[in-house]
Amino acid sequence: MIVGGGSAGWMAAASLAKAMTGGGYTIDLVESEEIGTVGVGEATIPSILDFNRSLEIDEAEFIRATQASFKLAIEFVDWTRPGFSYMHPFGFYGVQMSGIYFHHFWLRHQAQGGTLPYDAFCSNIIAARAGKFGRTSTADKLPVPPLGYAYHFDAGLYAAFLRKFSEALGVKRHEGRVVDVALRATDGFIESIKLADGRIIAGDLFIDCSGFRGLLIEQTLHAGYEDWSEFLPCDRAMAVPCERIVATTPYTRSTAREAGWQWRIPLQHRTGNGYVYCSSFLGDDEAATLLAGRLDGAALNTPRPLRFVTGRRKEVWKKNCVALGLASGFLEPLESTSIHLVLASIARLLFMFPGDGFDQASIDKFNSLARTETEEIRDFLVLHYTATERNDTPFWRHCQAIKRPDTLVQRLEMFERSANIVVSTGELFREPSWFAVLMGQGIRPKSYHPIADILPDAELARRFELMSDDVRKRVQAYPLHDEFIREHCAAPPLPERAA
Ligand SMILES: Cc1cc2nc3c(=O)[nH]c(=O)nc-3n(C[C@H](O)[C@H](O)[C@H](O)COP(=O)(O)OP(=O)(O)OC[C@H]3O[C@@H](n4cnc5c(N)ncnc54)[C@H](O)[C@@H]3O)c2cc1C
Repeated sequence: MIVGGGSAGWMAAASLAKAMTGGGYTIDLVESEEIGTVGVGEATIPSILDFNRSLEIDEAEFIRATQASFKLAIEFVDWTRPGFSYMHPFGFYGVQMSGIYFHHFWLRHQAQGGTLPYDAFCSNIIAARAGKFGRTSTADKLPVPPLGYAYHFDAGLYAAFLRKFSEALGVKRHEGRVVDVALRATDGFIESIKLADGRIIAGDLFIDCSGFRGLLIEQTLHAGYEDWSEFLPCDRAMAVPCERIVATTPYTRSTAREAGWQWRIPLQHRTGNGYVYCSSFLGDDEAATLLAGRLDGAALNTPRPLRFVTGRRKEVWKKNCVALGLASGFLEPLESTSIHLVLASIARLLFMFPGDGFDQASIDKFNSLARTETEEIRDFLVLHYTATERNDTPFWRHCQAIKRPDTLVQRLEMFERSANIVVSTGELFREPSWFAVLMGQGIRPKSYHPIADILPDAELARRFELMSDDVRKRVQAYPLHDEFIREHCAAPPLPERAA
């Protein structure tokens, strides 16, 4: 039984239905049109491709149905200091050599007076800045890896697409508002839910996708919430779509503002925008006015306010209830990680799916994996706010004073001392991501790996030329992003739909 029909609910329904068809399971999903969904969540990261592959979804069909565009990177504007921007790409810099990461060789190049920027070795960044996209190219036999990418899509259309997919596989949707939850007297497990019209639906496993309210996991089972506002102070967002008036950039833009930051997510039919801010430093009305004045095109709605508390549910699996999506916690959308966390939790749930009863050891493991995963992402986000030269507003002065989690302090010390970036096996953000943001936010290591010094000067120069040339040739062969969409996956216009 799934409670909630936002992205999380329908992603869970689609995945479970796909994996369990023929197994004699019944999957019910309850959602309430009256309550609605959060309606944002439009930028993804590359793991969405694996999720879609696991469902055997045709990419072009998916893109057309969700008005999607391709995303190669996130551009961070004014985060380090006003007037400076950098890219966090979904691809690699150069290639690994002698068993160590490329960036050590680049640091040597720079220490010896070399002038090639590290961006010149990353196809994703060069393509993003040129507004290009492609999956293959005439230069494809060259050594630098092809583009890594994700999507921007319309959150409402995404849920609708997955609903159609899930219902075709037998998922039963119930329209209605859950007003009561019955617990088993013997052990406090959830037995059934009651809808406003009196219908009672029983189940064995309950998946709470009810959004911030955490109807089952919190309001019923009181799992508890760990508040991370001390690390990540933003607690509000204003969201508004606007008309699309320029070329569709193949990247998300995040622009630091006086009390937070603004997102810009280009889709085929419109552009999504939002201002994520901290209520101690900016009022809602002021945020709405500032956002409305900073759009590419005419607003298609009035700005919609959203409130949240950054943090995580202490137990995301409790008794026979697993929380997914906003019901499980929320890390602000700076690195577009929420939808990824949904699909990663679904994969874990399928992997550890309860058969004959519930096993506490598996539940504990599930919870500890989820905890580590969110802590690692939290640290990555905190890096953006705390490694900055900005002290021009009270908000940024507050950010500079944030006490970093110990785990982040250790990472920073390692990078500053020796340029080492060590990521754990299942960690979401890998070495190129940390390198991009550490360097982008202005952190410079004092040294680099000793192996990088072994390669003779002439050989290093030859390889650097080869790699940067490869990146240039590869990107030259790609079409413009809009041309690619037009040719392969243009969505039909939606004139009657404003948001
Ligand atoms: C400002 C902001 C920006 C974001 N940007 C991104 C982004 O760029 N990328 C990203 O990956 N994620 C982003 N997210 C997160 C993303 O929106 C969510 O993770 C995703 O939409 C999943 O939401 P959900 O399904 O958990 O909750 P919701 O969309 O809130 O859905 C909850 C569902 O539960 C139902 N429900 C609730 N109570 C009841 C009840 N009593 N009875 C019946 N049904 C009920 C509702 O009707 C609804 O169907 C963002 C979030 C915010 C707040």
